[in-house]
Amino acid sequence: MAEFELIAMIRERCAAQREVLLGIGDDCALLSLPPGQQLAVSCDTLNADVHFDAAHAAADIGYKAAAVNLSDLAAMGAEPAWCTLSLSMPSADRAWLSGLLDGFLELCAAHRVALVGGDTTRGPLSLCVTAMGWLPHGRALRRDAARVGDDLWVTGSLGDASAALALGEAAGRYLRGRLLRPTPRVDAGRALLRLAHAAIDLSDGLHGDLGHVLRASSAGADLQLGALPASQALIEAFPEREARWNHQLCGGDDYELAFTADPSQRRAVEEALQAVGVLATRIGSLRAEPGLRLMLPEGGSWEPAAGAWQHFGEAT
Ligand code: ADP
Ligand code: MG
Repeated sequence: MAEFELIAMIRERCAAQREVLLGIGDDCALLSLPPGQQLAVSCDTLNADVHFDAAHAAADIGYKAAAVNLSDLAAMGAEPAWCTLSLSMPSADRAWLSGLLDGFLELCAAHRVALVGGDTTRGPLSLCVTAMGWLPHGRALRRDAARVGDDLWVTGSLGDASAALALGEAAGRYLRGRLLRPTPRVDAGRALLRLAHAAIDLSDGLHGDLGHVLRASSAGADLQLGALPASQALIEAFPEREARWNHQLCGGDDYELAFTADPSQRRAVEEALQAVGVLATRIGSLRAEPGLRLMLPEGGSWEPAAGAWQHFGEAT
């Protein structure tokens, strides 16, 4: 495989960026962390036909690979700065790689993230991205920091990506866009760093991801099903509320943030997220008794269908 040719092609497209002392081309990149900041690091692998459909446009695959990694930084309240890209490809397909870089570097540029290194090998199609960023020493939106009595919030709308996956070719433009090109809530995460207690990004579905926060924080929660934010497109595609809830709770790939904050911060949270153009919806509150209780608008509780859980909640 013309490995060095491909690396040269990647390198040509990476402009020098802030805090990068040495980028692609040596054995290591050299990066300089601003004073008073701690490093935040996250890594995600995307395997063809497990995490993405290899038939999708290469640019969409690249965009999503960047998005899911930036989403992890967002969930800690970190400011993204650098990434690496480890690529395994069955053949040296320059056109495919060029398309991949179009999408990948588009989102990186939007967040001023520099691609500073990686690896290029022959093998089954797979991308492994490491995203790095920083946040002030001693600060972070950790999963174990939620407190009993906190409000429970989510950004944006839920269930769109899952609906797009279920509808396949029948999904409209908006829903499809939410699946193929999710928006990492980087600005929202940073704005929440001084307001929220705990946060997590929704990659596997609210039901499961929220469970991680509750267990780590030794708390439980009451979630108001009637408050779950749904897009107009989701409501039109799934007019029946229980079908919608299954997508919103058990469907993955939303990459919205779920977070908790003290009730005294309600106005501040709304204003901070409004300032970065992100919808914030209060969907419940934390209690001492463990577990997640899904509350019906008319009273009483509800559980997702076991089938829906299996189908939508499958670990990826
Ligand atoms: P080494 O064998 O020392 O690891 P490589 O030949 O794998 O070096 O890589 C040469 C340089 O190109 C390194 O700086 C590496 O980080 C970079 N690089 C390799 N593949 C990629 C890639 N897919 N994306 C970005 N940088 C890459
Ligand atoms: Mg190498």
